[in-house]
Amino acid sequence: MATFSLDDYKAIVGEQEIAEIEKLASWVKGASIVHINSTRFGGGVAELLKNMVPLARTVGLNVSWQVMEASSEFFNVTKKFHNALQGMPLKLTEAMKKVYLEYNRLNAEKLDFKGDLIMVHDPQPAALLRFRNRGPEKWVWRCHIDLTKANPVYWDFLKPFVLEYDGLVFSLQSYIKEDLRNKHIFLMPPSINPLSEKNKPISESQILKMLEKYEVSPEKPILTQVARFDPWKDPLGVIDVYRLVKREIPQTQLLLVGSMAADDPEGDEWLKKTVEKAGGDKDIHILTDREGVGDLEVNAFQRASTVVIQKSLREGFGLSVTEALWKGTPVVATRTGGIPLQVLDGVTGFLVDTVEAAAEKVTLIIKRPYLGRMLGTNGRDHVRRNFLITRHLKDYLKIHLELIE
Ligand code: UDP
Repeated sequence: MATFSLDDYKAIVGEQEIAEIEKLASWVKGASIVHINSTRFGGGVAELLKNMVPLARTVGLNVSWQVMEASSEFFNVTKKFHNALQGMPLKLTEAMKKVYLEYNRLNAEKLDFKGDLIMVHDPQPAALLRFRNRGPEKWVWRCHIDLTKANPVYWDFLKPFVLEYDGLVFSLQSYIKEDLRNKHIFLMPPSINPLSEKNKPISESQILKMLEKYEVSPEKPILTQVARFDPWKDPLGVIDVYRLVKREIPQTQLLLVGSMAADDPEGDEWLKKTVEKAGGDKDIHILTDREGVGDLEVNAFQRASTVVIQKSLREGFGLSVTEALWKGTPVVATRTGGIPLQVLDGVTGFLVDTVEAAAEKVTLIIKRPYLGRMLGTNGRDHVRRNFLITRHLKDYLKIHLELIE
């Protein structure tokens, strides 16, 4: 991946913003940060780290990114953690706790923790700290998921590990659990990199080439969801929305684009369910990285879409939404998690609660191109002001200064 310097962002965010970042960075120059998560590919956290780590290095930080090593046994357990912490009524057995702790212990021995600040992402590696002898470094747990409706059995198990950290980072104020209020807490919504393969400007001919490659017509309306195949992303609900839209606008095509994340064992099962529900409809295109869909393809699909939908039932933040808004594509999305921070109802897209409402708004945007354009323009502006990587880097530097200086 190409490395960018801060100067490359001047044209997008302005000189003053860059100068502020440079000033903060000069105060922490040479400090080292270790990021730890559970996958190098697929999903929002990998996307964030892939972009943030190289940029933080260019401003003088010594940053490393380490990924937990574990077997499918561990990821089956941690996917249950993920689901339960987002509200599913699942059982937590002693055997599951043992698997979780055992892989955390193994990784605590294996990974390299030499840094001034250790940033541990999400529940999978949260117990690493328990198995380390602490030095002078500071430990931060960065939670990317929506804990509002966390299953109490899972939260009670995880909480003691979380309480050991020096700082906690959440994407939204509402995700901070009552019993964590006395901790050092930072709010830091995620971000996208406007210069990455996924988000950089691309030409019309590149877009057409991609559409042709996957046999999607550029002449007919395109409705797209970019998301892992996962129950919370509700791909089956997206097909229901599409079918209602299709009654009104028969030419509509649906793109369901989803990468298969290495730490998500449910991907295949939900991909299969989605293919079955699509039932051979030639206008439904179900595409994954297995068909060669990478960052550039996602970029092209988000740009070519008439409307992007995000039908999530729970959503930590929803980087796919940010990416679509940045490209000036209007978004119809559910009122959940971090989505309302991005989709301002009637301004950058529409917030909906039901399949019927989603279909109605998608249909409206397809029928009124000027409306889509207005929403798209506002969406791009909203992302520019709030959700770009430069703001995120500034937040990181501030955390560093607050915890270490
Ligand atoms: N993504 C991708 N290819 C796909 C599907 C998703 O690159 O086929 C990316 C998407 O562009 C976004 C990330 O995966 O950058 C998903 O992040 P989000 O916050 O929306 O959801 P998460 O997967 O973290 O729950």
